[in-house]
Amino acid sequence: MSASVLIEAFAERRRRGFEESNQERHTSFNPPFRAHPNLYSGRRGRYSLMLRNRIYYWLKPFVPQFLRTAIRRSLATRLRKQIGDEWPIMPGSERAPENWPGWPGNKKFAFVLTHDVESKAGLGRCRSLMELEQRLGFRSSFNFIPEGSYRVPVELRQELTANGFEVGIHDLKHDGHLFSSRRKFTRHAAKINAYAREWGASGFRSGFMLRNLDWLHDLDVQYDASTFDTDPFEPQPQGRHTIFPFWVPNPNGDSIRQQRSAIQSSSNGYVELPYTLPQDFTLFVLLQEKTPEIWMRKLDWIAQHGGMALVDVHPDYLCFDNAIATSREYPAAHYKSFLDYVSQRYSGAFWNTTPRQVAQFCIRVTQATRS
Ligand SMILES: [Zn+2]
Repeated sequence: MSASVLIEAFAERRRRGFEESNQERHTSFNPPFRAHPNLYSGRRGRYSLMLRNRIYYWLKPFVPQFLRTAIRRSLATRLRKQIGDEWPIMPGSERAPENWPGWPGNKKFAFVLTHDVESKAGLGRCRSLMELEQRLGFRSSFNFIPEGSYRVPVELRQELTANGFEVGIHDLKHDGHLFSSRRKFTRHAAKINAYAREWGASGFRSGFMLRNLDWLHDLDVQYDASTFDTDPFEPQPQGRHTIFPFWVPNPNGDSIRQQRSAIQSSSNGYVELPYTLPQDFTLFVLLQEKTPEIWMRKLDWIAQHGGMALVDVHPDYLCFDNAIATSREYPAAHYKSFLDYVSQRYSGAFWNTTPRQVAQFCIRVTQATRS
């Protein structure tokens, strides 16, 4: 099979997956802090996506990175032409949940910065990124892979938290196989929980945004951040179509709580924090945008509707200090101009906080709504 036929086949399957997710959006609006029980419609579509992803992650280690990036770029460019105006803004996702109380301190919108550290190169840039944000008065969270291609020095974790940043867990091995079987996930969840305790982490995001929200109840965390409002470029492209956080209740919450009452866990459920601004890799590496204009436009729209602007920026792809960016990097100046834009245009109007704080706020609101 020639490369172009392969690309065409992948584009077609991805397009079909995205259409299924669009059909879902008319029924999947989240009531206040509750996830819709039916995550995916169309069993066939769901299984074909699962199979495709499984094959991709088995083959991935054997395909050179430049070729993977070239294929993904080609797919993303084709997909962008097909999705029309449903990305980066999905109409309808701006509706606030029922009884939404608004953000603390009467802020217009929440502004949440998160970082997934993918590799040794990214690890080496965490301090520069932290310092950039600190200079501009922002705080963020850094998610590290516990058993990936690097080890996180304890000093770095301590430095981040001492400066008001948050440390979270990013997958376990980041190999695309975390959700490949229920039994394997249970085993890996126990390891993730041990790292969360050791690191003092209360949040999780899976590698490649692969997810099963039902299984995530095995994790002792307050929030997960593996979903998004709209992102057809992801391997599991079904969006949640909301720019607000929501609560994912545990169907067996009460019985589990009795068994594990000593553990501070997600026994009743957890907060889901969808990212609502496109990922930096998608914008600057795959779609090769030359400015952060899409981030700014989407942020204006989120601010207008009082939602949560949550972005995932990877230090791995940031090019600092005027160095020449490789084909998988973009100038850190893009990120800086975006932060400058937010602080100048919306000075005093937004709640810049860590995802943990947003989750705790949502837990308080959920408890108040119940009592
Ligand atoms: Zn990742």
